[in-house]
Amino acid sequence: MPESSIFDRWNLPRVLNASGTMTALGASRVVPEARRAMLEISEEFVWIDDLLDRASTVIARLTGAEAGFVTASASSGIALSVAACMTGRDEGRAMRLPDTDGLRDEVVLQAGHLVDYGATMDSTIAVSGARTRLVGSVSRTRPSQIESMMGPDTCAVVFVVSHHTAQYGQVPLEEVVALAHAKSIPVIVDAASEYDLRGFLETGADLVVYSGHKFLGGPTSGIVAGRKTLIDACRLQNLGIGRCMKAGKENIAGAMAALEAWEVRDHDAMRAAEDGRSKRIQDALAGLDGIEVRVIPDPTGNPLERLRVEVDPARAGMTAAQMARALTRQDTPIVVRGHAVERGYFDVDVCNMRDGEEGTMVAGVKHLLGAG
Ligand SMILES: *Cc1c(COP(=O)(O)O)cnc(C)c1O
Repeated sequence: MPESSIFDRWNLPRVLNASGTMTALGASRVVPEARRAMLEISEEFVWIDDLLDRASTVIARLTGAEAGFVTASASSGIALSVAACMTGRDEGRAMRLPDTDGLRDEVVLQAGHLVDYGATMDSTIAVSGARTRLVGSVSRTRPSQIESMMGPDTCAVVFVVSHHTAQYGQVPLEEVVALAHAKSIPVIVDAASEYDLRGFLETGADLVVYSGHKFLGGPTSGIVAGRKTLIDACRLQNLGIGRCMKAGKENIAGAMAALEAWEVRDHDAMRAAEDGRSKRIQDALAGLDGIEVRVIPDPTGNPLERLRVEVDPARAGMTAAQMARALTRQDTPIVVRGHAVERGYFDVDVCNMRDGEEGTMVAGVKHLLGAG
């Protein structure tokens, strides 16, 4: 890791991120293109409306949407999308939120989509003033249940794409869009961590929300893409609740530059570099007594693979949870992906690792196993 004085000045430990894009660790490495754009605009003035117009053009080009909007985070994007579906392009209504008196203010959400990504989906929706109406159960939701839950007070259906959702038994997006559109109800997709910038809109979804600071490598930001009338309504929210979720000039410009960098990046070369790092870790850990390592695909089909390290407590002398915790307590804290650590494994995600960091990772695990 490069030297940087702020780690000394503020006495902050650097962390080796083997877990992916985690908010708790600072999400992702901001790409140079975004850093440059942020630096350049940070010293100057610009009409934010002009900047947002240009951002809309860039988002539209990359996603195929009619328009786009940049806000503080994907969760802000979800809250503002719900707000937009309640108020439309009515300024007075937008300024009145989170008071929803007289507005359609119910959001339909499949029970298996009530995720906790560090905050819960229903609290994110509630920020707008809307109420979440859960439909179905975590193990199964039927189309008929969604249909009967959508009524005169429904303003939107929120659909979550994530490894955090129930991975079976939920009604797929295409079908949700058809059911909702039959009643002229818009569909908002939370695709915060998804690489696919076009596919969800192609299903007919009305608004799709991405994180600027995950796979895109932008600054902390949320990107909303979709129908022009609803995007206009999202922007109007900046006169009300959207102000608490403001993206300033640096983050709007940084998100735009990250999108443009994504557009021209050599994705195959990036993937090859990640696969190389992953392979080196896998080879170095193979055969160690107490663990089994295998490659697993991304649960939502993003173009990446992770290493799954299964820990045999009898042979390793510790559980997967204990090993994950012990890794964070080494000289260089190593953070692995431990969402399901109670099931006896953790994952290693190399997407935010630098070449060379795999040696530290491997040494950390070997040390704990008394193997080096
Ligand atoms: C990360 C994530 C979010 C939150 O994104 P932020 O940009 O950090 O607000 C929301 N939903 C899902 C599915 C996520 O993975």
